[in-house]
Amino acid sequence: MKVTVDRERCTGHGRCYTLVPELFEPDDDGYGLAINATIRPGFEDRARIGVMNCPEDAIVISDNDEEETAAQMLDERTETTNRPDPSGSGS
Ligand code: SF4
Repeated sequence: MKVTVDRERCTGHGRCYTLVPELFEPDDDGYGLAINATIRPGFEDRARIGVMNCPEDAIVISDNDEEETAAQMLDERTETTNRPDPSGSGS
């Protein structure tokens, strides 16, 4: 699994490297950088925390040809949350 920071989108909020310093670091101007392009096994959820907390949607993780952005993760959460109650109680 890979992680990249889109320098064109990044505005240097610093949330990625503050929250997930094992995967992200600031460059000399405070913009976020992925320390390594390849995410070490076991750190996938930490990378997702970086993605979800980037206000500019600048961090993308990818696995082969599939990319995950914050917007896609939010869509998946919304679908999960909005699934009908299997008990049929409606509550
Ligand atoms: S959280 Fe997003 S905008 Fe902020 S430094 Fe990291 S990549 Fe850049």
